[in-house]
Amino acid sequence: MHCCICDGIAHKFVDEKTMIVYYVCPFCDTIFKSPKYHQNFMVQKERYDLHENSEDNRGYLAYFQRFLDSVLPYVSDAKNALDFGCGRSSLLAKMLTKEGIVCDYYDPIYHPDGLVNTKKYDLIVSTEVFEHLHHPKAVFEDLVQRLNPQGYLALQTEFHPRTVTLFKQWYYHKDPTHIAFFTPQSFEVLSLLFQCKVVAHNSKNIIIIQKV
Ligand SMILES: [Zn+2]
Repeated sequence: MHCCICDGIAHKFVDEKTMIVYYVCPFCDTIFKSPKYHQNFMVQKERYDLHENSEDNRGYLAYFQRFLDSVLPYVSDAKNALDFGCGRSSLLAKMLTKEGIVCDYYDPIYHPDGLVNTKKYDLIVSTEVFEHLHHPKAVFEDLVQRLNPQGYLALQTEFHPRTVTLFKQWYYHKDPTHIAFFTPQSFEVLSLLFQCKVVAHNSKNIIIIQKV
């Protein structure tokens, strides 16, 4: 199987607990589920509908604040932003707007009208989205095209633990809608492919990329 990020030859392994087939790429570190375990749109929506995402949920406020605390120091010159894959909630967009970065939001299920194809952004944020993507490389390229020159892409997705043994014990791939798993190396490779550079990451789940 070719890697969904760098097109290199990825090696197959099976999680013996679930018998789900995965592929790991030795070049860019990406791990992805075999496409036969991808779920259709309506099954995914049923799962997303269960997510507690109410805007008066103080847990979510703190959760997004941690993300912003990691990202904002690197993007201080940003004037506008897009929250790509916001889910039901526009909370993160509202928090960014309060910070002086006017933020649009888009979600293919809950806010499908939020994308203006001609509009360019200084910052695109996307939290807990990339692990759901069937075509992460194409989405990355699309987001980079929506950035102004020197614009930033700030992503949150849990980085996998790097070995197949530890991966099998990891909780994050047990969500059936999670199908792709990355490390900073995966985004280094994507950045090289699409004229970007990695500015910073926290080794855990947040990475900031700049269009060059
Ligand atoms: Zn790869």
